[in-house]
Amino acid sequence: MEARYKSLSIFEFQERFPDERSCYAYLAKLKWQRGFKCKHCGHSRYCSGNQEFDRQCTSCHYVESVTAGTLFHKMKFSILKAFWIVYYVSTSKKGIASTELSRKLQLRQKTAWLFKQKVMRAMKSSGNQPLEGDVDVDEFVVGQQEEGSTGRQKGQKKLVAIAIEKHGERGASRMYAKEIGKASSSELAPFVREKVSPTASLRTDAWPAYNCLKHEFQNFTQVLSGDKGKNFNTIHRVIMGFKAWLRGIHSHADHLQAYLDEYAYRYNRSFMKEGIFDNLLNRMVQGVPYGSKQIIS
Ligand SMILES: [Zn+2]
Repeated sequence: MEARYKSLSIFEFQERFPDERSCYAYLAKLKWQRGFKCKHCGHSRYCSGNQEFDRQCTSCHYVESVTAGTLFHKMKFSILKAFWIVYYVSTSKKGIASTELSRKLQLRQKTAWLFKQKVMRAMKSSGNQPLEGDVDVDEFVVGQQEEGSTGRQKGQKKLVAIAIEKHGERGASRMYAKEIGKASSSELAPFVREKVSPTASLRTDAWPAYNCLKHEFQNFTQVLSGDKGKNFNTIHRVIMGFKAWLRGIHSHADHLQAYLDEYAYRYNRSFMKEGIFDNLLNRMVQGVPYGSKQIIS
């Protein structure tokens, strides 16, 4: 996936966001891109509030701040530093450790970590665009001793279900992955139903947990395990790419799903024109805010 997406240079970023005001102005532009509608009474006319980018409803006088309802609400550090975090997370293809963010931006490590979790939540797929065309599904383990583990016994390791949408002979255009407790049909089937369009041509291996999907997909093939090597080349390459990427991240033990989402987000936007930074920022503005407590739990 390397640098297939258009990435904002550090120079361009600094030009666009030299100060806090430019960040708030951009938030306001994104937040009200489809016009203003009062959260209280639904009125669409407004005047400015006490702060420059706030908007006050001219009918009920309710004041809405530019950050309300976004992931930038009630932050305890500068919005400019928050934009820098989004910038670093979106442009570093290997991801960036919170210790490094803390050092670069002079923030407490915990503060950097918490905000980075918010950014990663915004990267979580909405799941609204199921995979189409030729789709392969498989599982893999993530853990310290993954070498030599071929079966579905995960032991201390973590098990992940993965689906890819194939692109040409050897490539994949999009992927989704989910951490699962065990390779049972009660966990695998819902993942496939959620991430794969029923009109897709679905392929799995011969693991019986997939049998229940037989009648739900127009084209469903189960590949015998002897033929799996040559048939599942592409998906295995995607898995290897993810594992290599994950190895480059310092601490990931407790947040595997967040890293799977981050990887899928980057992967699925590899060809995106608008740029990953703006897309991510837009998601954070439209997104429902999560308090730090919810992130820890
Ligand atoms: Zn109102």
